[in-house]
Amino acid sequence: MASEKFEKPTGTQDILPGAVEKWQFIEEKARDLCRRYNYREIRTPIFEQTELFERGVGETTDIVEKEMYTFKDKGDRSMTLRPEGTAGVVRAYVQNKLYGEPDVTKLFYMGPMFRYERPQAGRYRQFHQFGVEVFGTTDPAIDAEVIALGYSFYKELGLSGVKAEINSVGTPEVRAAYRSTLLAFLEPMRDNLCSDCQSRMERNPLRVLDCKKDQEKFVNAPSILDSLDEECSTHFDKVKGYLDAMGIEYEINPRLVRGLDYYTHTAFEFKAQGIGAIDTVGGGGRFNGLVDQIGGPEQPGIGFGIGLERIQLILEHQGINLTSAKPLDVYLVALGEAAEQKLTKLIYELRSHGVAADRDYLGRKMKAQMKSADRLHARYTAILGDDELERGEIALKSMETGEQRTVKLDSLVQEFVKTSH
Ligand code: ATP
Ligand code: MG
Repeated sequence: MASEKFEKPTGTQDILPGAVEKWQFIEEKARDLCRRYNYREIRTPIFEQTELFERGVGETTDIVEKEMYTFKDKGDRSMTLRPEGTAGVVRAYVQNKLYGEPDVTKLFYMGPMFRYERPQAGRYRQFHQFGVEVFGTTDPAIDAEVIALGYSFYKELGLSGVKAEINSVGTPEVRAAYRSTLLAFLEPMRDNLCSDCQSRMERNPLRVLDCKKDQEKFVNAPSILDSLDEECSTHFDKVKGYLDAMGIEYEINPRLVRGLDYYTHTAFEFKAQGIGAIDTVGGGGRFNGLVDQIGGPEQPGIGFGIGLERIQLILEHQGINLTSAKPLDVYLVALGEAAEQKLTKLIYELRSHGVAADRDYLGRKMKAQMKSADRLHARYTAILGDDELERGEIALKSMETGEQRTVKLDSLVQEFVKTSH
């Protein structure tokens, strides 16, 4: 017999019971926020045609250049595990003609993303994002709403020190003008820049500002904000005004770019203080050219993607313990075979009525079963012996107070439906 041991792929995680409750809490928070902000969930495939990401994420990004999980399927088509959420959502928006709806389309998604990266704390090859996308309006109030939603998410999870950094990347015309100003700044340092930067200087100089290695060299780079035209400045001013009105903490970072042609106006990132190098916990921006780029009509859009592993990282860092597992309502103990028969039926009824109930399956003695009930933080144990069975009763013990009483078998379900929440 082969006795090979398997290990999870590098850069992935098993989320075990005990930790998964934190995930559920975070996911529920995201869903609840989206309900309050009136964003509806969309679920798109985990893999898409490779070309969608090449066009939808951009050929000069780290993601497309180095990080995609791309494979040929058996029909010889190039497929890619989604590295981010926006491209798929835009594809679905176009394919399902959601732009035909009379209202602004406000969507959210949550799920795993895949990037071939060097794993470290807060950086995985399979990770999870919560994201939103809004289509169909250029109103700066929606830019502020999207930022407010992301900001509230961190706030309501109890994280402190998370700030929004915002910038305007203008329109393609504004960027064309800024491009030459920026190139004039970069040209003298060309030889000192990394090879990625050098090649991006040719293809997409704005992306250079996004380089992790050369960051500190760009402190004195010209600000794109100085190149904004009237329309772009007005839009940016309005966004800031709305953020001020809501009391959202933000900073302006003129070097924050999402250097793709279809990104327009507002770009932003959420930064957490004091968690080390990996301090960007989410990011987003307006993409007025993307729907068109992906073969749809000209419809403006804006959204963000927030990494959930990084939230876990800050939670841990800040010593925040999100709610743990919900306790069991009742642990049932049967003494004797006839009692066990009855217990099987009872436990089924309890569960059918929404009560969280469990029992022993290891043939253990009563004492060991009571220990189990303790470990599971059961609120009650219900003990059914032959005597009780004969009288049509069951002994109910509160694990909290130790108080014990007898209830009719017929009314046990009722007892819990009344007391469980
Ligand atoms: P980074 O600069 O850290 O690589 P990014 O610019 O590639 O981030 P985005 O594409 O903007 O990140 O994704 C949005 C968020 O998704 C990030 O802010 C981060 O929280 C999370 N994220 C991105 N890549 C990973 C990863 N490999 N592992 C875990 N979380 C990630
Ligand atoms: Mg990255």
